[in-house]
Amino acid sequence: MSRRADGAARHPAHPVIGEGAGPPAGSALTERWTVCSAGHVHWGAIGAAGLLLSCAVDTQPTFLLARRSRWVDEGGRWGIPGGAIRDGESPGDAAGRELAEELGVTPEYRITGLQRSDCGGGWGFWTITARVPAIFEAYCASETDATGWFTLPQLMRLDLHPGLRTWVETVLDR
Ligand SMILES: [Zn+2]
Repeated sequence: MSRRADGAARHPAHPVIGEGAGPPAGSALTERWTVCSAGHVHWGAIGAAGLLLSCAVDTQPTFLLARRSRWVDEGGRWGIPGGAIRDGESPGDAAGRELAEELGVTPEYRITGLQRSDCGGGWGFWTITARVPAIFEAYCASETDATGWFTLPQLMRLDLHPGLRTWVETVLDR
């Protein structure tokens, strides 16, 4: 979700100016720290998004989580793959891209929900929920040191990223 401060993207010193020129494809201009109106520091100038994939295993909803590498924000805790939304990207696109980057997989999935949580200062994190037909192996491609599929009771016993814990408790309360 977040990156360490020195992991911020660098911009080319000599951008190409000309026909069709503009921010390069997959522009990382929005992949930086930002301060919201409530004074929090957030990763992602226009917000961030994460993907919560689930699969019915023996009728039990089972969720794919990733444990964050020690060196990233909230390192050592379990969360969902995600990160800063890039300019021109939808929250769903951003979440799918982060899934591929962080867990090294590009599964087919069906989006079932999209929810924006505002921090109270105008900055938002989008949680995209989606279903896959079968569980699959995920990898620790980037910013991740473990992955796993968990049922809700199993998941609630993990050391969860606070944002994910709040989100799960909100869903369970409905
Ligand atoms: Zn904030």
